Amino acid sequence: MPTHARKLLIAANWKMYKTPDEAVAFTHTFIPLVGNCRHAEIVLCASPSLLPTVVEKARNNPIHVAAQDMHWLDQGAYTGETSPLMLKALGVSHVLIGHSERRQYFNETNTTVNLKLKSALAHGLVPIVCVGEHLAQREAGETGDVLRLQTAMALDGIDPAAAGPLVIAYEPVWAIGTGRTATPEIAEDAHKIIRAEIANALSPEVAASTRILYGGSVKPDNAGTLCCLEDIDGALVGGASLDANSFAQIVANSAG
Ligand code: PEP
Repeated sequence: MPTHARKLLIAANWKMYKTPDEAVAFTHTFIPLVGNCRHAEIVLCASPSLLPTVVEKARNNPIHVAAQDMHWLDQGAYTGETSPLMLKALGVSHVLIGHSERRQYFNETNTTVNLKLKSALAHGLVPIVCVGEHLAQREAGETGDVLRLQTAMALDGIDPAAAGPLVIAYEPVWAIGTGRTATPEIAEDAHKIIRAEIANALSPEVAASTRILYGGSVKPDNAGTLCCLEDIDGALVGGASLDANSFAQIVANSAG
């Protein structure tokens, strides 16, 4: 097994799928398949309605549970929102921030991503901050600028000393749910740009230790090729994480 500079993190993004019964069935199949996993941290990102069930199933197993979003405030008159205090009380340990579907459909901006990131770090939640360019931006040669801007704005005002838990996910929007995966070269280039921007915004030490995941049509047959690259520290998986066998295969194959 190749050694990787940072411990891999393989996260399932279930989006708005699964009932509690389906989540339980998933864990019953999945947990025995990954019970001996040592090479990667495994995270299940579930909708708020599933969090208590998934937290319960993950207890005493090598699985962490993430919310797919949160508000940055502890409480308030914000109908429909979930606060970091609520997530902590449920036993949730990680949180996705700024997924492109939140940016596209729910007015998530670089400014709200920054507020959520500061809040997650302050509350001891592991933030997985998503960045990535649209197809038109890639075709216009703007990928580097987009990634630098999204990363810099997410990290604005973050204390480097508090940034240890930070995880970034590079998710080219044109690769999400399309079956079109970034080539290893495209992904590795993007990850290097993001890592350089972390060094710029925080410090070279934080940049060297921050995990940068790749997301966008990761499947069992491409997980190994992507995760063995120097600057790719794991994967954020949507569609292929809904099936327990498929996601377990991705976890296994990520070891290279
Ligand atoms: C995602 O939801 O973050 C994602 C990468 O989806 P998919 O794997 O289906 O492209």
